[in-house]
Amino acid sequence: MLLDELKKMLISEGASDVGFSSINKYLPDELKIFKTCVTVVVRLSDAIVNQIIDSPTFTYYHHYKAINNLIDLLTLKGVLFLESKGYYAYSIAASQSVHGKDNGFSGVLSHKIGAVLSGMGFIGKSNLFIHERFGPRVRLGTILTTYEPENGISNNVIEPKCGDCNLCIVSCPAQAIHGNTWYLGIDRNEMIDPHACSSYMKEKFKFIGRGQVCGICMRVCPYGSEVKR
Ligand code: SF4
Ligand code: SF4
Repeated sequence: MLLDELKKMLISEGASDVGFSSINKYLPDELKIFKTCVTVVVRLSDAIVNQIIDSPTFTYYHHYKAINNLIDLLTLKGVLFLESKGYYAYSIAASQSVHGKDNGFSGVLSHKIGAVLSGMGFIGKSNLFIHERFGPRVRLGTILTTYEPENGISNNVIEPKCGDCNLCIVSCPAQAIHGNTWYLGIDRNEMIDPHACSSYMKEKFKFIGRGQVCGICMRVCPYGSEVKR
């Protein structure tokens, strides 16, 4: 099947996991032509993430950018593959805010919607996507396509599994995480305060990539934090 072939190609090119979802009804009007979402997951290095304590590191910032570049390359390859099969396909940048949208705090489409619909993981109190194997230590990319398998795709939303944990909430230096439990359709502002997060990073971590990264809430999450040596 075409999606299996696509997944095999993306994994062989460096993706850690690939998931599929039926996304049409969650898309904004300008993207309604698309039916299927392909979510590309690339895991972050544990050795690098584990160095984040109360601040991001220069190594983490470089790693973050390198992984975003890999994801953009993978989604481009996915688009070319789908186009070669005769379908429209559209990639969404790994990390790009759209000027004017949600005060500049949002991209064209959240990568998390396709990721959570695909059943590869859940969304935690941190509002991060928690992959079933890698926890929040992942970056995501999205391809939208007009291709739809004959039997459709059944979405599989996994309920949040944070339980009583509140590590991300108490560790966030900006107090940006409200501590609510995610559900499909919840307003992002009920989960986190993106302005508080962004302002804190810009003020306190401006010497590292001009304050574009933090990573503390990802680092402290018990999911995916098994130390590999
Ligand atoms: S990235 Fe940093 S500032 Fe933003 S929510 Fe996570 S811990 Fe808080
Ligand atoms: S740190 Fe705890 S509360 Fe936060 S996302 Fe991870 S499991 Fe959920």
